[in-house]
Amino acid sequence: MKFISTRDSQALPVSGAVAILSGPAPDGGLYVPQSFPYYDPCLARYKSYAQLAEDIFALYLDDFSGAELGIAARAAYESGAFPPSVAPVSQVGPIALLELFHGPTCAFKDMALAALPHLMTLSAAKTGHTGETVILVATSGDTGKAAQEGFANAAGCRVIVFYPAGGVSGMQEKQMLTGGGAKTAALAVKGNFDDCQRGVKSIFADAAIVRRLKETGRSFSSANSINFGRLLPQIVYYYYAYSQMLAQGSLKAGQSIDIAVPTGNFGNILAAYYARRMGLPVRRLICASNDNDVLKEAIATGHYYSNRPFYKTASPSMDILVSSNFERFLFEMYGRDGALLTKDLRQFAENGDLKIGEDARKNWQGLLYGGSADGDTAAEAIGGVMAKYGYLLDPHTAVGWAVAYRYYDPSEGLPLLLTATASPYKFPAAVLGALGFSCEGLKEEEQLRLLFKRSKATIPAPLAALPGLSPRPRVEIAPEDMGRALLEALEETGL
Ligand SMILES: *Cc1c(COP(=O)(O)O)cnc(C)c1O
Repeated sequence: MKFISTRDSQALPVSGAVAILSGPAPDGGLYVPQSFPYYDPCLARYKSYAQLAEDIFALYLDDFSGAELGIAARAAYESGAFPPSVAPVSQVGPIALLELFHGPTCAFKDMALAALPHLMTLSAAKTGHTGETVILVATSGDTGKAAQEGFANAAGCRVIVFYPAGGVSGMQEKQMLTGGGAKTAALAVKGNFDDCQRGVKSIFADAAIVRRLKETGRSFSSANSINFGRLLPQIVYYYYAYSQMLAQGSLKAGQSIDIAVPTGNFGNILAAYYARRMGLPVRRLICASNDNDVLKEAIATGHYYSNRPFYKTASPSMDILVSSNFERFLFEMYGRDGALLTKDLRQFAENGDLKIGEDARKNWQGLLYGGSADGDTAAEAIGGVMAKYGYLLDPHTAVGWAVAYRYYDPSEGLPLLLTATASPYKFPAAVLGALGFSCEGLKEEEQLRLLFKRSKATIPAPLAALPGLSPRPRVEIAPEDMGRALLEALEETGL
């Protein structure tokens, strides 16, 4: 199995190890597999999560041995960071919720970031890469802490996180400013997630910074979903969910399902699309956005337009106008025509406006659907689901619920799976507000207690402990200073 870039399919194919170590491709595109291997959904039925992960990793990383991948998968999912069920499916009314928030940082990013450090260490050994890897992370709130945790014990890796100042929840910021050991820094950027993501991309392309790093024997990689090593572990849980639904009797072998995903950078839903390409019976993919609904319009009309107001919402991890992984999806919809895609995406980068061609649009008819839910609609979903089913949604999953429900037609008899992407306790103020309680003047620990009193949902241990931890000093920088701040942070942590 080799990997090619979305920007120029003529570029020399690289191995999985090289793709994972590099993050983005050198031509500015993203690595994608040359083809999609088949995996029989029935095979997933009697496997543990780690066994299933090993199987799926092996199909893409065929330069790694099964034993190596087995050790990596068990280290990720069976070392106590996750409960034995790893990613359980809870049937809540008509919707099957795939709970992806039982990892160490209580958001779905843990599912991939528990495995990525192991895959990166293996990749370094395969390619003879020595020296330290500096992992750059642009985060809309959850990837930052998940990367810090995932890489905390990875030899030869440092993690530098950029997050939007004032654009993440208090719990999210505190998570990033505590723990993760001495080899990490988290910097607040005066701007939004798109500024952080653009800044990281330009650091990757900054010859002077890259040279400076090289002189000290270091190189960059990415823990964002632009790295194929992030997407690969995310394919696993869609197969796992399908086999749980089979075991629970909510579907029959071979029966199709619809999958709804609260979406930001389009990584999670892209993994569902990849699972479908590998043989998982999926009819529709439903892409749910909050008020930042660029994708809804692009999917419905082909008008991909990011030059518009940016809204801060109660679902901050989805406050994104330019979704990196949409590029990988478009690559498939363009019939893998990298040259045409490059031309169109250059234009889009220039003026944030692209009319996607009719041929490409036709390719997602009947497959990809988009919808959005504003803050009030998501809050109603939280209140309504709590009242009706006694289940507590987080604000991101609530956006997904509201949009998924619009597409749900019981007369079709087709199961609907929704990914539940975060613990509600990461966003206590927003969730309490949705349940009709004011938390004015309440400290975070009081918010957690009040939410527990009202919902009876268990507080995850890592979040319960958070109010007692003392954070590192908060550092705020301008977007244009990200490169300089990075070098300074590296010096502090021992460049
Ligand atoms: C990252 C995140 C999302 C969006 O996922 P993408 O893969 O970026 O589309 C949704 N919800 C939560 C809680 C997240 O942390």
